Amino acid sequence: MKLVPRYTDIADNFAIEDQPSSVAAPQLLLWNEALAKQFNIGVEPQWRASTFAGNEPQQIKALALGYSGHQFGHFSPRLGDGRAHLLGAINDDKNQLWDIQLKGSGATPYSRGGDGRCALGPAIREYVMSEAMHALGIPTTRCLAVVGTGEAVYRNPPQPGAVVTRLASSHIRVGSFQYLATQGDAEGLKKLADLAIKRHYPEITSEGPERYIAFLTAVISNQVNLIINWMRVGFVHGVMNTDNTLVSGETIDYGPCAMMDSFDFDTVFSSIDKQGRYAFGNQPNMASWNCARLAESLIPLISDDEEKAVSLLTPVIHHFSEQFNTQFTVMWSKKLGLAAAKEGDKDLVSELLTLLQAHHLDYTNTFDALTEFVNGNATIPKELIEWANKWQSRTSNDSYKTMRAANPRIIPRNHIIETILAEYNELGSSKLMSRFVKVANKPYLFSDDMAEFQEVPSNDTDYKTFCG
Ligand code: AMP
Ligand code: MG
Ligand code: MG
Repeated sequence: MKLVPRYTDIADNFAIEDQPSSVAAPQLLLWNEALAKQFNIGVEPQWRASTFAGNEPQQIKALALGYSGHQFGHFSPRLGDGRAHLLGAINDDKNQLWDIQLKGSGATPYSRGGDGRCALGPAIREYVMSEAMHALGIPTTRCLAVVGTGEAVYRNPPQPGAVVTRLASSHIRVGSFQYLATQGDAEGLKKLADLAIKRHYPEITSEGPERYIAFLTAVISNQVNLIINWMRVGFVHGVMNTDNTLVSGETIDYGPCAMMDSFDFDTVFSSIDKQGRYAFGNQPNMASWNCARLAESLIPLISDDEEKAVSLLTPVIHHFSEQFNTQFTVMWSKKLGLAAAKEGDKDLVSELLTLLQAHHLDYTNTFDALTEFVNGNATIPKELIEWANKWQSRTSNDSYKTMRAANPRIIPRNHIIETILAEYNELGSSKLMSRFVKVANKPYLFSDDMAEFQEVPSNDTDYKTFCG
């Protein structure tokens, strides 16, 4: 595995050299062959287990990255990779560089008393969820492997330990910028912004303040796209802290995330999100808030005159909601297959959402049924028949194709994920996982085996998730 160094020249304390701690008995539990094929990675199973457990020394030094973060609105100046090691970057078959990071690979200088480890359950959740999101066409970090460590992690109760291998186009977070801004390191900020531009927004060629305004604009545009995609499929991230927001616009941190089943903008799953800060319908506000924190961090790159910098950055931030609202309308039109925008579309959508909520209808299955109805393969749910009379006159010959592309048939439902995790915890493998991955790989298509994954259990209303 040929590794390329990354993040080594941003600032002295931005990336700390630190080796993963070896584990007792690495066992390869999940291996993403389709993803691995894009890279020239060793094929021998024992090598894979040992390498992706962090037991093998590499030709370059591993790094723990520093970052800050607003966690539920409260600022922590020094978070950083407390249980992750960046091995470096690897080239894929299209000559694109990907960060390769081990998570759960032992304590680092950023551990703040934590054990640096990851339990098997959250490791499997990250793998299944991120790969399902990728198949749904949503920008996300990927998972290459989950390796069991053969050691227990001391949670309550103790659980088997695991190391996840995460691939990402970068690990540059809003919190990475906050980290340098908090230290007053304008030079580091500039290097980091230039690196992010080079990697994610190479079309930005301007210099000076314009360059970083363009950067912020591009990040906002990708965040808008990301949240629209989350809401299209009913994804609730659950922990949209600034340290969990990548400037690339990829989804990262599958800790307490879950999928909404019955429709409600107020849906919250995370046990620690008591105020509903990261509720399903509040995700655009929070993404916008996070972008505002990025904007603040960029002030030193805009002007020495803070007031002037703020006056240049503020309109860019305000553009978030305008952009979001426009694309949100487009999203609903696609989900309903509406021909060219028309007066009254907004009412049509909000009437439908009110009915969904009042009757506790499943978000995914309802839009799937509407889609297949247009194709003559399903009936309208009885609660929606009256509404559908109005809607039908707005559909056209193109509706099915548009709706099918917007409305998945298969999502990683919470009870499926829980059963997969339970099977892994008990047996170290999961038959359900093998069946699910096959179907979830093509989430917009019919398959003979999909019925099992479309079922909605009646007792899933109090589902709670915990930070892994
Ligand atoms: P998260 O909630 O996963 O976004 O993590 C927030 C911060 O806590 C990050 O800085 C993590 O590195 C750190 N962290 C989470 N779990 C552990 C752990 N078991 N040991 C050390 N640091 C941790
Ligand atoms: Mg995180
Ligand atoms: Mg987490």
